[in-house]
Amino acid sequence: MQARLFDSVTETCNLCSRHCRIPRGKRGFCNVRENVAGNLVTLTYGKITACGIDPVEKKPLNHFLPGTGTVSVSSFGCNFTCRHCQNHTLSQEFRHDTQRAEPEDIVRAAVHAGAKSISFTYNEPTVFYEFMYDVSREAQREGLRTAVITNGYMTEDAVREIAPYMDAFRIDLKAFSDSFYSTVCGGAHLQPVLDTISSVSELQKHLELVTLIIPGVNDAPEEISAMLSWEKETLGCAVPHHFTAFTPMYAMTDVRPAVHADVDAVYQAAKDAGLYYPYVGNVMHAEGSTTYCPDCGARLILRAGYVCRMPGIKDGCCTSCGRQIEGIF
Ligand code: SF4
Repeated sequence: MQARLFDSVTETCNLCSRHCRIPRGKRGFCNVRENVAGNLVTLTYGKITACGIDPVEKKPLNHFLPGTGTVSVSSFGCNFTCRHCQNHTLSQEFRHDTQRAEPEDIVRAAVHAGAKSISFTYNEPTVFYEFMYDVSREAQREGLRTAVITNGYMTEDAVREIAPYMDAFRIDLKAFSDSFYSTVCGGAHLQPVLDTISSVSELQKHLELVTLIIPGVNDAPEEISAMLSWEKETLGCAVPHHFTAFTPMYAMTDVRPAVHADVDAVYQAAKDAGLYYPYVGNVMHAEGSTTYCPDCGARLILRAGYVCRMPGIKDGCCTSCGRQIEGIF
């Protein structure tokens, strides 16, 4: 399958912000896009490593069809090489044990399973962009919503091309320092991620952010403060932001796990900064699992694990004061 966003004159892949120059016979950094006789070919199209239904809260997405199922679809490969990757067997290995699927197969499976949406997830969906694009178009035709769970390294052109068919972007903001992206994520940079987040916001697509809190690595108070200031200035206060607890894994076993106090400190900072919808993940935290109305403080959605109850929200509005809550409900 021919890849999108390839400049054949300069032999440059412009799908993600690595902008790899790929001479004939070579592959890009992600190892799944190859220049075959002057054409860039995607090696992941229709090669599936997972396709199953999950609670949408597992993504995590808290303001996107809460309480519904989403069909999670993955392939393999990644444009990052994060030391703490929880899916490194998918992201860092060229997998030959995949299942073959057409876009229609995925959509049919989602409809059959009673899912309300399809999520592109587990490995970085950017590197199976063409398949994601085709599945999303097909999903839209069948009345299903779509969500991409991404590291935010797509170029603006890639975001704008797929935006008409993508309802939600769940983007990792892994840290607020360029050195983190450079040293932990394999020579990446912070600014392209910020640019993607800004683009998605400008396009008025549903957006949620996730920051995995790694003690002593990305949670210095001044770094968190700078992140929250940027977020408020650029996006406003209404983007759900999940702060989740790190567990040592893969090549980052030299850092201790994040405990309740680590994540709670960031959650409190986000609340103090005025964010409407900060959340906590991977540790028990009743307040950080609850959606509150930003106007009257009513409890709208209560969550326990991936199960949610919605006593205070109807048709996307607070039942106490009528405020419309940001998201897709
Ligand atoms: S998608 Fe892959 S080949 Fe293209 S620029 Fe990114 S890392 Fe390079």
